[in-house]
Amino acid sequence: MAKIAFIGLGNMGSGMCANLCKAGHEVRAFDLNTDAVQAAVDKGAFGAASLKDAVQGAEVVVSMLPAGKHVLAVYFGKDGVAEHANKGILLIDCSTIAVDDAREAAKQAEAAGFPMIDAPVSGGTAAADAGTLTFMAGGPDMAYARAEPILKAMGKNIFHAGGSGNGQAAKIANNMLLGISMIGTCEAFNLAEKLGLDAQTFFDISSVSSGQCWSMTSYCPAPGPVPTSPANRDYQPGFAVAMMLKDLKLAHEAAVAAGAKITLGEMAEKVYGDLDARGHAGLDFSGVMKDLKGDL
Ligand code: NAD
Repeated sequence: MAKIAFIGLGNMGSGMCANLCKAGHEVRAFDLNTDAVQAAVDKGAFGAASLKDAVQGAEVVVSMLPAGKHVLAVYFGKDGVAEHANKGILLIDCSTIAVDDAREAAKQAEAAGFPMIDAPVSGGTAAADAGTLTFMAGGPDMAYARAEPILKAMGKNIFHAGGSGNGQAAKIANNMLLGISMIGTCEAFNLAEKLGLDAQTFFDISSVSSGQCWSMTSYCPAPGPVPTSPANRDYQPGFAVAMMLKDLKLAHEAAVAAGAKITLGEMAEKVYGDLDARGHAGLDFSGVMKDLKGDL
């Protein structure tokens, strides 16, 4: 069992930290929000008063932070992880950040004497709490081999996607596809309804035909066919518009840098950007359906 410093105890980090404790690791938890630290202590962690306090003596650091700027500041900023951690300990960042930021973090980590992997996740807070997240990791083989047992305590499907930043690349390409397929699914259900089919009839046909996709069969945006989907609770998230927009912006940024054409990705970004601008950032991303029906 490892001595782990866990940084970032928000919606996702709190459940992940609790699962590391449950697996028997010795976890020192830190967040700027002291209530979040107390909640982690209640679930088996030791509370840390600062980053320095969290990482001293740690063998592994796991972070789950909002964005790239937080990740670079926490690891390499003043009084950050690199300043206080023992050389050679493993750094695992699970936040969703830009591919370039992940590669920059790995470069700085290597220069400072730390192996690092990016290991963003798929699956929301329910999967974080249940320990069933999907991890997609990028980084050197040796670092991945050390990280794998730690990730297994928090997730069900763990992938090594290649070198540094490849975990983030897998994550944003996947989420761009999800954004596009969700909008397409909403448009198909709306069209079918306007042409006289009810949602269940269209679902029964399309879910076993060539239009079938995850957005339809696991997260149907029309109320009815999939009881667990947010459509059945007035589109409360779930996965909010703001989060999808963040991932589509990261995909756009990465596509520009890589010279990849993403016509539909850009259109999806516009659709979610428009919902966000109209005050619907907190709506589930399948709420595009509600908008198409004129109910927003
Ligand atoms: P969150 O805002 O709930 O949690 C982030 C936490 O980091 C907060 O508690 C905040 O206080 C803390 N923090 C910020 N700066 C800090 C610092 N300098 N030192 C210590 N703590 C600091 O966010 P979340 O929903 O848990 O998401 C975290 C990451 O996971 C994001 O990158 C997000 O894109 C990604 N993600 C989220 C979901 C989801 O469904 N929520 C799903 C997949 C991936």
